[in-house]
Amino acid sequence: MLRLEGLRAGYGPVTVLQDVSLEVNAGEVVTIVGGNGAGKTTTLRAICGLIRPQGGRITVDGRDTSRLAPPEIVDLGITMIPEGRQLFPFMTVRENLMLGGFKPAARARIPERLEEVLTLFPRVRERMTQLAGSLSGGEQQMVAIARGMMANPRLLMFDEPSLGLAPLIVKQVFQIIDTVVASGTTVLIVEQNIVHTLQIATRGYVLENGRVAMSGPGPELLRDPHVKKAYLGV
Ligand code: ATP
Repeated sequence: MLRLEGLRAGYGPVTVLQDVSLEVNAGEVVTIVGGNGAGKTTTLRAICGLIRPQGGRITVDGRDTSRLAPPEIVDLGITMIPEGRQLFPFMTVRENLMLGGFKPAARARIPERLEEVLTLFPRVRERMTQLAGSLSGGEQQMVAIARGMMANPRLLMFDEPSLGLAPLIVKQVFQIIDTVVASGTTVLIVEQNIVHTLQIATRGYVLENGRVAMSGPGPELLRDPHVKKAYLGV
């Protein structure tokens, strides 16, 4: 579905991603792990069209998307849940969810889609009239995921979904991600909390200094001595 080949990308004259190749196939859960500043978020931004690649290729179903604008990439079925949730705090949960269904293809089906999404996330249904900013961090993350699902994505990308959340809430967030996966949505997750993500990942990529240092089935990477030492301190 998604393929990066020798991707080079960064900000202005700065190159952050030197050479990133990876693929995500339909039905997979793929994760990119790595330390601070490795280039994980930059990879997601390039996929979404928020930054233009400096070199290499990004293709979706074989089509080069390097020159497409972000809304065109959303139209191909690719949606990102950004780091820090980025909800509109002074709008209600319902209004935030509506914005997730804004693209033309999704707009026509908002009522049905809302019902499908609320069936997946019953906790969100209970909060529909509340201002998004008044929710707890964990609830806000649920709303951010539900908003992403409103676009009915084929590929949902998560940027650090557990960041800043208490351990119990992190567990709930990963249960929600499991729900998304079970609903048939393909998932690409960027995380520093590597234990859970690698356990569920069909394939993981370890990003170091803008390059893919290692890749393989998630559980296998989790057993790798280098990964254990560098990311788990054992
Ligand atoms: P983290 O987990 O800390 O978010 P990351 O792997 O997601 O790390 P990126 O956010 O992709 O890392 O950042 C990679 C590098 O790009 C960092 O050195 C960062 O300072 C730089 N960078 C990120 N955003 C910008 C920007 N808008 N302008 C310039 N440099 C940036």
